[in-house]
Amino acid sequence: MKEIKIHNNLSRKKETFVPVKPGKVNYYSCGPTTYDFAHIGNARAFVVGDLIHRVLKSFGYEVTFVRNYTDVDDKIIERARELGKDAIEFAALFVKECETDFGFLGMIPPTHTPKVSETMPEIIKMIEDIIRNKKAYVVEGEVLFDVPSFADYGKLSKKDLDSLQHGIRVEVDKKKRNSADFVLWKPAKPGEPFWDSPWGQGRPGWHIECSAMAKKFLGETLDIHHGGVDLMFPHHENEIAQSEAANNCPFCNNWVHHEFLNFGSEKMSKSLGNVVRIRDFVEKYSGQVLRHLLLSVHYRARLEWTDEVVQRALEEVKRIHEFVVEAETYKATGTADDAEIMGCIEKMKDDLSNDFNSAGALGTFFTFIRHARHNRDSLSQNSVTEILKIVNFVRDSMGFVSSDPEATLLSLRKNEQSLEGSDIDSQWIENLIEERKTAKASKNWARADEIRKELAAKNIVLKDNPDGSSTWKVQS
Ligand code: AMP
Ligand code: ZN
Repeated sequence: MKEIKIHNNLSRKKETFVPVKPGKVNYYSCGPTTYDFAHIGNARAFVVGDLIHRVLKSFGYEVTFVRNYTDVDDKIIERARELGKDAIEFAALFVKECETDFGFLGMIPPTHTPKVSETMPEIIKMIEDIIRNKKAYVVEGEVLFDVPSFADYGKLSKKDLDSLQHGIRVEVDKKKRNSADFVLWKPAKPGEPFWDSPWGQGRPGWHIECSAMAKKFLGETLDIHHGGVDLMFPHHENEIAQSEAANNCPFCNNWVHHEFLNFGSEKMSKSLGNVVRIRDFVEKYSGQVLRHLLLSVHYRARLEWTDEVVQRALEEVKRIHEFVVEAETYKATGTADDAEIMGCIEKMKDDLSNDFNSAGALGTFFTFIRHARHNRDSLSQNSVTEILKIVNFVRDSMGFVSSDPEATLLSLRKNEQSLEGSDIDSQWIENLIEERKTAKASKNWARADEIRKELAAKNIVLKDNPDGSSTWKVQS
């Protein structure tokens, strides 16, 4: 089996990956909190999680992959209350919406997708184990993790307890013995969802769910754990503390964190209100373009969201799928096998085995596309067969090729096609959209309105998107 190197945040070094059981990988990725539609920053988490899964599988590993749904959480309870809905039912609705988004992004299903609401016995059992091992204490129906009792606290985030204690100036929770202690279980307030426990009716703190779900489906020591860099502290640090305090053995050998998707200089996030929802992007461009864009940059590099980045992804997706459709018609006319074609999969595997470098593998793929096109009239039978293998490898290991290339091309061309046979050209529409944007920016609402009407007269309907852009389609 080919050796994989992974940048392990536990050591902050790139290391040779050695799973606990040869040939098998136990892999966990922190999933979404389901109280709203997911945005394209979240999509980076999902798609990178999926990339790791696919690459390991295509290298021949037997992977058990768990990605959870956080369906019990303060934000969910608050939002459901505002809307007068039952919190668990409300969260379940957004689990469904999330699954729809996963479909757009061409994800392969994890082995298990547990929910917090369905993992209560395991969560309670784990908290009992931590208390028994004297690493947690109970105060008035609340269970708190005793951070100073866990000597290794800070080993992932590289924070030391002293500076942590000093960093927390305001003591909010009077029940805490130490300011860095965190909640494992808390009593339910009236009207909140609750579960029975040895400490009274309540619900778990955020971090314990991942420790309990990981143990339930993957055992006590994981090979790989993934999440966004924002989760390294406190979430992942606390997962380590809980699991190691309960199980008395290492929790996870390799920690992988992806960088942010930024909008301007800031992280795209719901709290900053600068989000583009996955489905809005998909409606405008397609899920394949989003997936491509997110994986065309190494997962450890920041990704700045700009129009140019989107435009480049659009063009590249088109180029790839035009090639894939064309390659199906290639016929063998030569006799000599082409070394560059025959070595392409191995070269992409070299890229991917270097810390899941999908950006490098994409570059290799484009070099191959240019080469194959250039030499299409002198290909041997082996080379023709290999080209199809390469396309399948790219589809399976990274998902840069969709399951239906013709449909992908069609969806990219759909706006242009709608105009065929009419006297309108898309550039005229784009120019008016641009003019309307400028009019709106200078509060010239009359002109903005006039442009909308001018387009409507030609059967062109405008849709304004949350990111400030506008898209158009021909009214059917
Ligand atoms: P949440 O639903 O907020 O718990 O987030 C789910 C996943 O999305 C986590 O792994 C976060 O780290 C990740 N995430 C949220 N915002 C961004 C962003 N702007 N860029 C990259 N990942 C993000
Ligand atoms: Zn988690």
